[in-house]
Amino acid sequence: MTIKTHAIVLAALSATLGGQAAAQTDLLPDIFVEPSYLYDNQITVEGGVRYLRLSNGTANIGLGKLYLRGGEINGDTRTVYQRVYRDDGSSWEREAGQFTHHSNHGHMHFDDWAAYRLREIVGQDGVGDIVAEGFKTSFCIIDLGVYDSSLPNFNPNGEFRSCNSTIQGLSVGWVDIYSKGLSGQVIPIDGVPDGEYWLESEVDPDNHVLESDEDNNISRVRVVIGGGGGLEPDAFEPNETRAETAGRAEGRAQQPKLRPLQPAAGPGRPDHPRRL
Ligand SMILES: [Zn+2]
Repeated sequence: MTIKTHAIVLAALSATLGGQAAAQTDLLPDIFVEPSYLYDNQITVEGGVRYLRLSNGTANIGLGKLYLRGGEINGDTRTVYQRVYRDDGSSWEREAGQFTHHSNHGHMHFDDWAAYRLREIVGQDGVGDIVAEGFKTSFCIIDLGVYDSSLPNFNPNGEFRSCNSTIQGLSVGWVDIYSKGLSGQVIPIDGVPDGEYWLESEVDPDNHVLESDEDNNISRVRVVIGGGGGLEPDAFEPNETRAETAGRAEGRAQQPKLRPLQPAAGPGRPDHPRRL
């Protein structure tokens, strides 16, 4: 809505000036949670606490890159500005949350990037109440893998490669991946009864980032807590053989190997040790 209104105002301005100013359009990012990464999850017990550990992947499917610039330094934090590029190459900036310096990692993280929750399943497919949730996770945001090279404005080289830069972001058609072994990739589930639930991931839950679509930031997959019997087989989905799941493309839904579609294109994430 904002984009359209903006474009109309600029078009009117352009007409008023006798065509001296060309209409400009913001090329906004659109970040969404690729649900296939959520299938990479497991139950662990750490320090006497039971957790659901999960992987998460956030992809940019918008017309423009997510560009985050670190501004004023305030102790361990830094104000973040989102730079929005327009189709004529110009840009403007808006405040968009903060970076926090993590001494264990030795670099800046963009705060409140993802929220993880477990929800009841109501009836067949209904989304019910939250039964457990983790802390909001912070990360350095980088181009880790190619998600969709067919998108308009896809950048085959990527742009955001370093966690040490004051610039972070996500290029069009790229995905950043946070594997389940990383610190913070958990939902504490002590006291959650055995059963089937929605595992939900929301990117940018506090809406720091301006996107072309703010309504596709949540993805959900079904998970079983407890497992080991008691649940009826799903009548709508046959039980596959190992060969069938192994035959699916890596990184896609219900395939055991979850990784970037073109892993060689990404720098990897060696600087994120498991820290509990
Ligand atoms: Zn880090």
